[in-house]
Amino acid sequence: MDQAAPLPSRRGVLVGAALTAVPYVLLPGTRAAARPQAPDHPGAEWHPATGANYTASNRPRGHPVDRVIIHVAQTTFAGTLSIFRNPRKQVSAHYVVRSADGHVAQSVREADIAWHAGNWDYNRRGIGIEHEGWVDQPSYFTDAVYEESARLTAAICARHGIPRNRTHIIGHHEVPGSDHTDPGRHWDWKRYMRLVRDSA
Ligand SMILES: [Zn+2]
Repeated sequence: MDQAAPLPSRRGVLVGAALTAVPYVLLPGTRAAARPQAPDHPGAEWHPATGANYTASNRPRGHPVDRVIIHVAQTTFAGTLSIFRNPRKQVSAHYVVRSADGHVAQSVREADIAWHAGNWDYNRRGIGIEHEGWVDQPSYFTDAVYEESARLTAAICARHGIPRNRTHIIGHHEVPGSDHTDPGRHWDWKRYMRLVRDSA
């Protein structure tokens, strides 16, 4: 993960645009925060990030989504979710995958812009998936992680019409300007992409 919060002025403009584009927020007594907070991914468990750690949007209407960005969290599953709830951290991702069993948590709606890429353009066009573990500890990259994360990525690609290739499914280290190395050299891209392509 990475700070990657937009500049305050830019963020204000985008939040304002998102609010005016959503008719039901204009209804009396209805607030943007009251929008339904069900996971986008079937089977994902909803663990919301604080609203201070992402930018509300109405993607893909507000901006097309055409990248899935793969991360390794450099901490545990629970630690990652706790960071996303902490407004001082200024980071988030849409999803977090647990090492032991591939369990998927969703923290930010796909319509909204999570802050994970360290690059505002890639945050705005991307869906971020964090994986529990550390880049130098490949034992965290279990069969379950590869299988469930690939299923998640394939479903994201289907929802947004994203091609299932390495141009559109990238590592954090491939984001322009990124100084991060994740998911690192132990992440098996060949295996991952085969699973993504084979996923229904
Ligand atoms: Zn990362």
